[in-house]
Amino acid sequence: MLAFVGAACAPAPIQPTPSPLPSVGASASPTPEPIPDHEAPAIVAQDPPPEGVIATTGSLRVTFSERVSGVDAARFQLRDGTGSLVAATVTLDPGRRVATLVPDIGLTVAASYTAILAGAVRDDAGNRLVPVSWGLTAASNVSFAAGTYTGYRFGDSDADLTAIKRATLDAPSGAPASEYRVLAGQGYLLIAAGIWEGYLVHGEPWGLAQDDLAASIISLPACDYLDLPTARSSTADWATTVLDTLFQLPSGYAPSNLVNTSTAGLNSGHLIRSLAIDDLSDMVSAATVDGAHLVVQSAYRSYAGQVLTFGGWVRQVGYSAALLTSARPGHSEHQLGTAIDFRSVDGPAPWRLADWATTTEGAWMAANAWRFGWVMSYPKGSTAVSCYGYEPWHYRYVGREAAAAIHADAITLREWLWNQGYGVR
Ligand SMILES: [Zn+2]
Repeated sequence: MLAFVGAACAPAPIQPTPSPLPSVGASASPTPEPIPDHEAPAIVAQDPPPEGVIATTGSLRVTFSERVSGVDAARFQLRDGTGSLVAATVTLDPGRRVATLVPDIGLTVAASYTAILAGAVRDDAGNRLVPVSWGLTAASNVSFAAGTYTGYRFGDSDADLTAIKRATLDAPSGAPASEYRVLAGQGYLLIAAGIWEGYLVHGEPWGLAQDDLAASIISLPACDYLDLPTARSSTADWATTVLDTLFQLPSGYAPSNLVNTSTAGLNSGHLIRSLAIDDLSDMVSAATVDGAHLVVQSAYRSYAGQVLTFGGWVRQVGYSAALLTSARPGHSEHQLGTAIDFRSVDGPAPWRLADWATTTEGAWMAANAWRFGWVMSYPKGSTAVSCYGYEPWHYRYVGREAAAAIHADAITLREWLWNQGYGVR
């Protein structure tokens, strides 16, 4: 299967050799005796948290330590400051162990409420939840002073980051808060209307949100598989466009001024942005002088081309395996027109080798490409931050200044672009 390592940019998949299946059952151990469950179910998360803020149109969510039953409107309640029951709809998702309470009416701004979970809630073994209650306060509006803010938008699941926005307000602005959440130990407000519509914004639940100019950019997102529009998707942004398994180019993104790679003294039949030609020519000349004879395996690929490439891998190795080794349409750096897969003049497709960087050409590129503005996007051992397997043949042109900075920082291109703030709108 070595041939598949890092074949994210392979234009044509090759047939894998099936590996033998492990024998099943040979080492099966006897089923252990079930351990009796005397443990009461517990609450492991509350959203909003105890003594937190609930939006006037918000809801409550409670996550249990194990599967429970008996959570209904009689046992999961919200009461106002006078002790009156707030009419609400209560649902339980046993699989996710989450109970949700949605008030039937809007809550009162600045009023105090008490959430209650009664003890008739039981786990599968019949153990009862210890009754618990906690206080909440309702809020509806936050105001923003003039300043720069960073907002993070999340999907239905708190874990799914779906967008990031950094913008400057020239004048104070107010907006109703629809939901308050705690994520990664920090408080955030979700503003459902106004200039921050749909975004989670740093801030205090009461009154003024903080000026976020000095706030650090959220740490590099994990390599989830999402289709988020990348922040810099103009063809003029070629050097700063973040592309990974989350962020993608529009399907209509197609650079102009594509020229044949033969213009740079390489083999013909592949296209590259003209703005990269001078440095590419210099690099090829310098490599040749040093005895490294580079050949283009693949260069520009359109969105439609990547549909075919990724689809080919899916057919060959299945969807989940293809994800690890091939960019989904819109996510490929080849669509930028500034990426090239190289191979050696007398060698096979580079992914056919255990490590192309051990060839004369691959080693030369690993050592010298940065001097000419080209960076290896997916270095060895960087999958967790680059989102793809090791691809010693895949280089992206970012210009000499950026490539030198990335080389000096000894980090991946994706990390560097993100650290520079290019992933944030
Ligand atoms: Zn590639």
